[in-house]
Amino acid sequence: MVHTDPDCIFCKIVAGDIPCEKLIEDDAAMSFMDIAPLAEGHVLLIPREHYETTDRMPSDTAAAVLKHLPSLVKAVQAATGCEGVNVLQNNGKVAHQEVPHVHFHVIPRDKGDAFQFNWPAGSYPEGRMAELAESIRRAL
Ligand code: AMP
Ligand code: ZN
Repeated sequence: MVHTDPDCIFCKIVAGDIPCEKLIEDDAAMSFMDIAPLAEGHVLLIPREHYETTDRMPSDTAAAVLKHLPSLVKAVQAATGCEGVNVLQNNGKVAHQEVPHVHFHVIPRDKGDAFQFNWPAGSYPEGRMAELAESIRRAL
């Protein structure tokens, strides 16, 4: 069964109903330029099939999509001359997901650029990290 959503903007791009500046296309994946870039050369890598969030995507689909990541990052770096790159994948509105079709952002980064992270690194009270790790292991 092919997963697609007629109302999804990225499914429309995959179907060719909405134009895009295409970079990669194969049986499993597509990559194209982000239309509202956080920096010049911001690109997206998506599964052709519609999965709303990463946890819903079959692992073989994820593997077939993510195999393109190293060459895509390398090409974005080569084309833009950026100093670094963020690979970002948002799941859920709370995590700033606006398009409900899994997509990996590749965002060129340079010193002093406009894109800023708030990275509020914290710490665990005694025992909490091990407790959470056990819960995650049980859920895997
Ligand atoms: P997110 O907030 O993680 O859901 O990101 C969605 C991304 O999709 C944003 O960076 C948008 O600029 C991008 N986007 C939305 N519509 C299009 C489109 N038609 N072509 C290319 N990129 C798009
Ligand atoms: Zn879709």
